[in-house]
Amino acid sequence: MKRKYVMALDQGTTSARCILYDRYGKQVSVAQKEFRQIYPHEGWVEHDPMDIWSTQIGVAQEAMLKIDAGYEDIDSIGITNQRETTVVWDRKTGEPVYNAIVWQCRRTAGFCDGLKEQGLEDMISSRTGLIIDPYFSATKLRWILENVDGAHERAKNGELLFGTIETWLIWRLTEGAVHVTDYSNASRTMMFNIHTLKWDSDILELLDIPECMLPEPKPSSCIYGQTNPRIFGGPITISGAAGDQQSALFGQACFSEGEAKNTYGTGGFMLVNTGSRPVVSRNGLLTTIAWGIGEDVSYAIEGSVFMSGATIQWLRDEVGLLDHAAKSEKMARSVENTAGAYIVPAFTGLGAPYWDPYARGALLGLTRGVNKNHIVRAALESMAYQTYDLMNAMEEDIGHGIKTFKVDGGACANDFLLEFQADIIDMPLYRPECIETTSLGAAYLAGLATGYWESMKDITDNWQVDRVFRPVMGQEKRDALIKGWHEAVGRTLGWAKNV
Ligand code: ADP
Repeated sequence: MKRKYVMALDQGTTSARCILYDRYGKQVSVAQKEFRQIYPHEGWVEHDPMDIWSTQIGVAQEAMLKIDAGYEDIDSIGITNQRETTVVWDRKTGEPVYNAIVWQCRRTAGFCDGLKEQGLEDMISSRTGLIIDPYFSATKLRWILENVDGAHERAKNGELLFGTIETWLIWRLTEGAVHVTDYSNASRTMMFNIHTLKWDSDILELLDIPECMLPEPKPSSCIYGQTNPRIFGGPITISGAAGDQQSALFGQACFSEGEAKNTYGTGGFMLVNTGSRPVVSRNGLLTTIAWGIGEDVSYAIEGSVFMSGATIQWLRDEVGLLDHAAKSEKMARSVENTAGAYIVPAFTGLGAPYWDPYARGALLGLTRGVNKNHIVRAALESMAYQTYDLMNAMEEDIGHGIKTFKVDGGACANDFLLEFQADIIDMPLYRPECIETTSLGAAYLAGLATGYWESMKDITDNWQVDRVFRPVMGQEKRDALIKGWHEAVGRTLGWAKNV
């Protein structure tokens, strides 16, 4: 008799969630708890690793209690997590030596500039697939070793351990018995060679990071260990782990080369599966490991939009044009077009393919007839145009068109947005019934390793489409709209440099 559920632990940037899934990929219980954000200085972001641990365990127990499930009902645990966030702790006591330094934290920006000035960019990106940026774990780890009293010495002596969040949770769940990372998370540290699947000794030497503190890299779907029986009343197998975006790609069943998913959340994240081939970007996109299953490793190319749903949030919270994000759809549909207006939400500069930190937001093309509905519509359209630009950059990098385009994230509830998106990219979009793809991916990775799901085909069969959005716009209109968008973007570039 197979056990009933697979548990997904979804450790996000602002909250911990636990979802129990059944064999059909349906949610049977959910619990969620926010935890504290710590901002010690401008541009610095930290979490307390013990908050991360305790909220995660709290929601896991709550999700089980809600449906009266015991450890014997849980087949396995899969973990998905905020990526790049860095924890260092004492191997014996389990005490963190410093707060977790969160992916958003910019404290190592100056150090990263120094690495670039030394001309290290090509070496680092050819091995890790990443650009040099404070975002990734390596320079955060180095910062802790340099700035916490005695940390470097203790690390060299083998007293300290490093981990990204899945590593920290697995170590805690197994009460220190297992110190591992999965390939997808390792590929975000900027010290992992994504071709050899090993820590890169040249980068470690360059940053003076002792290898003995690093976790053992493992596939994303494999048996890592068992939870300490005290936590859930008996042992549960831990057998899946992946970074949040990679996990979403897996949860969307984008298993073959050319399949892509785009998440419309606060920011936007687009990943396309490039199969066993790590594609090097010429457009400033990242090459990343999607997942490892057995001997096979799948790669992806990744790009992000800084301001996606956040543009609607801005219109709601700062401008006050609407009181609820969901109302944007009705407002956008109440007008036929934007009356020539464009919003370029370059509030914090523009990412791929422009990479201009000096670009700033703008509302352009205004005429006397533009009203708030046109502006809201222009904001939604900006989410689609930015995705279009990203997709073009990706297609150029991979050398062929994207084959399937699946969507998820909070803003993909907006049908207007997806209709317009399909028109602009001129291909169909697929919205699944379950848009909680991040946690679902982690559950699938775990259940595949234990045999709860027998093959990837079981997962593909579970993936159900809610709605397909097909393009209806004519070529001439599409071209004219896109031309206008690029004109508008051009007006925003370099703005902060000149004023
Ligand atoms: P997160 O990135 O925090 O996980 P979500 O995936 O929950 O975010 O998406 C929330 C974002 O989506 C918010 O920025 C919100 O403004 C936007 N959003 C939510 N619902 C809609 C909607 N119906 N139309 C447009 N934007 C929406």
